Amino acid sequence: MTHIITSICLRDGACVEVCPVDCIVPGFPESEWPWYFIDPDTCIDCGACVPECPFEAIFVEDEVPDAYEMAAGQERIPFRGPRYAADGGEVVDLTEDIKPNYDFFSRWAGLRLSAVAVFRVMLTGDRLVAVPVSFVRPPHDARRASRS
Ligand code: SF4
Ligand code: SF4
Repeated sequence: MTHIITSICLRDGACVEVCPVDCIVPGFPESEWPWYFIDPDTCIDCGACVPECPFEAIFVEDEVPDAYEMAAGQERIPFRGPRYAADGGEVVDLTEDIKPNYDFFSRWAGLRLSAVAVFRVMLTGDRLVAVPVSFVRPPHDARRASRS
């Protein structure tokens, strides 16, 4: 079991700082992997990330809704489609977002994606660079201040 981030994630990164095992990472390249993703092998299902998400995009895997009703103006980024704002009332199957979560970590198997590593590996354009976690994740107080 794991928690799953779905296509109503808008990549603000708020969930990352509360995860006690640092298993949430941004998809990259963003054009192919549009959301943040949770490493299913590391997630301990603590649930801390769920209330932190301003868009309520995170679910326990078994509770991902297959008939999720979009609110008027709510934005979504389908896995293979453009970001859009809903008119309201559209019903979407968010269980289709489960597979990309697993696929992302399969795709990058061999790279240490978890932020518990000294370095986080990120793909920027066509360059593969290693960025210190402290650079990727600003100090806790600074992140809190930037969101207030
Ligand atoms: S449920 Fe807990 S361990 Fe899993 S991604 Fe969310 S905060 Fe991290
Ligand atoms: S807090 Fe929600 S919207 Fe922000 S990155 Fe995490 S899952 Fe996506």
